[in-house]
Amino acid sequence: MKKYNTIIIGAGPAGLFLAKNLAENNIKTLVIEKMSSPGKKLLITGGGMCNLSRTDSTQDFLSHYGTASRFLGNSFANLSPEDTVEWFEKRNLPLFSREDNKIFPKSKKAEDVLKTLLDNRFELITNYKIENIKRENGYYIIDNIYQSTNLVIATGGMSFPSTGATGDGYNYAKSFKHNIKAARASLASFKIISENVSQIEGISLQNVTITLDDLYSKKKKIRKNTDDLIFTRIGISGPVVLDISKYATTEQSISLNFNKQIEKESNNKMLSNSIKQQTGLPSRFINYLLKSLSIIDDKTINISKKKVTSINEKLRKWDFQISLKGQLKGAMSTEGGIKLNEVDKKTLESKLSEHLYFCGEVLDYSGDCGGYNLQACWSTAYSVYLGIKEQLN
Ligand SMILES: Cc1cc2nc3c(=O)[nH]c(=O)nc-3n(C[C@H](O)[C@H](O)[C@H](O)COP(=O)(O)OP(=O)(O)OC[C@H]3O[C@@H](n4cnc5c(N)ncnc54)[C@H](O)[C@@H]3O)c2cc1C
Repeated sequence: MKKYNTIIIGAGPAGLFLAKNLAENNIKTLVIEKMSSPGKKLLITGGGMCNLSRTDSTQDFLSHYGTASRFLGNSFANLSPEDTVEWFEKRNLPLFSREDNKIFPKSKKAEDVLKTLLDNRFELITNYKIENIKRENGYYIIDNIYQSTNLVIATGGMSFPSTGATGDGYNYAKSFKHNIKAARASLASFKIISENVSQIEGISLQNVTITLDDLYSKKKKIRKNTDDLIFTRIGISGPVVLDISKYATTEQSISLNFNKQIEKESNNKMLSNSIKQQTGLPSRFINYLLKSLSIIDDKTINISKKKVTSINEKLRKWDFQISLKGQLKGAMSTEGGIKLNEVDKKTLESKLSEHLYFCGEVLDYSGDCGGYNLQACWSTAYSVYLGIKEQLN
């Protein structure tokens, strides 16, 4: 049997950050990864540039994780965004921040973040499919080959499964009696099923308000968000959609307010030109709008007040039916996971099985778009590191 102090399942940002911290303290660590190489998802973050944190204060950060914020507060107290910057820079990864407060490596390469996390002081095995985990005589034993005092589940959520995040960690946790909140997509695009938007694919609009009923909340809250939107071949995406997506159920209606209105004009211009001049909306979008209202693009002199009213109504409240089928495949984050009330918020140790820990997206939290999810990985992983280190004192 090969013996370790800590075995970490999953070589994503959470698992690797933890492994690096443990290795720097000479704590014997093994990381088991099922894919052919570590950090597959990390490498595609921020469009390959890795938006690893933000310049915002901890207080501001904590308003971006919904109900999980209180739980995560302890991890942020252990490793704040500021500490994170210092951590990476101390390990020779220079960073820079943009005007939108997002922090990236100066090289703009996610690959360099991964290189910083890898360290030959911990063992990493890839392409390994775990068959069995058990706890015997106070040790965790994997496949009767690897034995460890501590076991850390850092297997991520279920979004973008092509990177290895397929929910295995939920099953490992269940075998130790943990309960799982069903996973669903977060930071995802919406597929529109009520109409075909392929003709307006690629159009991006600023300052669009999206409204949906949060059917998941017991109080049936109305959720609203205003930001940039982009039409895709099959639906809508962009920051306004990504940040609200975790509140949508599988099929529901949403409404868009384009925050534009027109006046009735009679200056003999074509209606589409007049709308473009008054709203700044792109022609392709205006043509689609008129078509959806069955309004013929005519001289404004012939346009009735009723038609102007119906255009304004549509610009203020355009209803679409959406579907989330297959959405996890392309989502950037997972809502749901290991229930937080079964995990010690200071050390992230399981309350149900001693020396079992969790970090990263496998836990039931999901941050907004823009560096919040990776920061939660660094902070939760650091808490586990402190918890394990404390055992040794
Ligand atoms: C396209 C995209 C862009 C993103 N961009 C950003 C961004 O710029 N900023 C940001 O903050 N967040 C971003 N995110 C979110 C961020 O990448 C995730 O929140 C983060 O990767 C989660 O880290 P993790 O270590 O918990 O899990 P993961 O990164 O999913 O890593 C888990 C690892 O565990 C391995 N694993 C799973 N099951 C097993 C098993 N049974 N045995 C062994 N290994 C296993 C997986 O193969 C994987 O390597 C992005 C996500 C996507 C999909």
